[in-house]
Amino acid sequence: MTTKNSRRDHKDDICFLTMKAMILTGIRRIEITEKPVPEISQSDEVLIRIRSVGVCGSDIHYYNEGKIGSQVVKFPFTFGHECSGIVEKTGSGVKRLKTGDRVAIDPAMPCYNCSQCRRGRYHTCLNLRFLGCPGQAEGCLSEYIVMPERSCYKIDNTMPFDIATLSEPLSIGLYATELAGNVQGRKIGILGSGPIGVSVMLMALHRGAGRVFMTDLIDERLSLASSMGAHWTGNPLKQDIVGDIKREEPELLDVVFECCGKQEATDQAVKLLKPGGMLVIAGIPSFSEWKFSAEDIRRKEITIRNVRRQNEMVQPTLDILSAGKINPEKMITHTFDLDHVSDAFELVAGYRDGVMKAMIHL
Ligand SMILES: [Zn+2]
Ligand SMILES: [Zn+2]
Repeated sequence: MTTKNSRRDHKDDICFLTMKAMILTGIRRIEITEKPVPEISQSDEVLIRIRSVGVCGSDIHYYNEGKIGSQVVKFPFTFGHECSGIVEKTGSGVKRLKTGDRVAIDPAMPCYNCSQCRRGRYHTCLNLRFLGCPGQAEGCLSEYIVMPERSCYKIDNTMPFDIATLSEPLSIGLYATELAGNVQGRKIGILGSGPIGVSVMLMALHRGAGRVFMTDLIDERLSLASSMGAHWTGNPLKQDIVGDIKREEPELLDVVFECCGKQEATDQAVKLLKPGGMLVIAGIPSFSEWKFSAEDIRRKEITIRNVRRQNEMVQPTLDILSAGKINPEKMITHTFDLDHVSDAFELVAGYRDGVMKAMIHL
């Protein structure tokens, strides 16, 4: 295994390979370091040369706050979980994949054995390991990672790596819309038009949603959402979202997706829903408790569903992408190389320059 970036060091006649990896050494402090290339230790594992990594809102929580809820980073730590690459080496028990295969990666590594896994709830596996999640697994912002074969999905030669990387947020969008049941012809609200909000929008439209209303505090995100299919967009800093949507849809909305982790958004969602409607919460708040109007959710008999990432949605998402049924390309607004990963995080953390999804190319 030799690539432009991998280096051989000789020390006491032992020959080992090193790679570049990013490490978070403190709040908002990123360094690029040399690390040994990880080794395959289980027969079902594959070594992957990473080609593209997406910067996710959840990475930004670790970057800015060093934690998400009770999940606290112990520095130094490598994060990143949205990625794709090329199989470099396979373990002896690997059957589906071979060296040279291009793959999209599901960052989840369930045990397939616990009571949750046995019920098919792999995403809430009691022994789950997730890429770039403190205490579970180091992230993918490095030249190589080792993954179980089951978390790797072969993609064809025509799919760009960045699109394969987007299968992670898009699969969350697909899962969230499936939790909402049949959305065909339904009036949908999506509060927060970042990568998850737009992923939910693309999948809701793909699944036949009737009319999609989107909000965000950033006008560039709203224009992008409109250009990708949103029927109506609004900025709560400039208008009365509830009043304006009510004028458009006097009977109100069937499903509202909260995709920004803000209390104001869930308050709007409850007001925007018709009786019997459903609030789907996909956003990750920085605070620890949501508040709901007991009167509103009771009188309207609102169903509240939470989204925990996604479950078994990567392959269906790749199939939707390969068939050209959705086109997420416009979501990728910026690209960086590994040496400029700090710039990428500063850009995304600061919501600067109309950024939607920043990709790191390796
Ligand atoms: Zn993500
Ligand atoms: Zn399990």
